[in-house]
Amino acid sequence: MECTAENPCGGQSCIIARRQNDDFVYEDVVFRERGLPVRATCDTPPTAEQARAMAEATSGVHSILVGTAPKEENEPEIGRPPRP
Ligand SMILES: [Zn+2]
Repeated sequence: MECTAENPCGGQSCIIARRQNDDFVYEDVVFRERGLPVRATCDTPPTAEQARAMAEATSGVHSILVGTAPKEENEPEIGRPPRP
């Protein structure tokens, strides 16, 4: 199903629906951490930089999420995994 801002695809992980619901959007966090733009819809193809960021984020190197705020020195790592 197509995904547009006016007609979100309705998928469980639809980035538009999740943003509207103030839900956690894993890729948005990954992209913002790296200063990249977020994708407009689920159908928007990722740029090369975005694809690389997601590959890095899911490779284990950056798999622990600490929310959107930068981590303080000596702050314990408290992961916030995406919902299933
Ligand atoms: Zn969608």
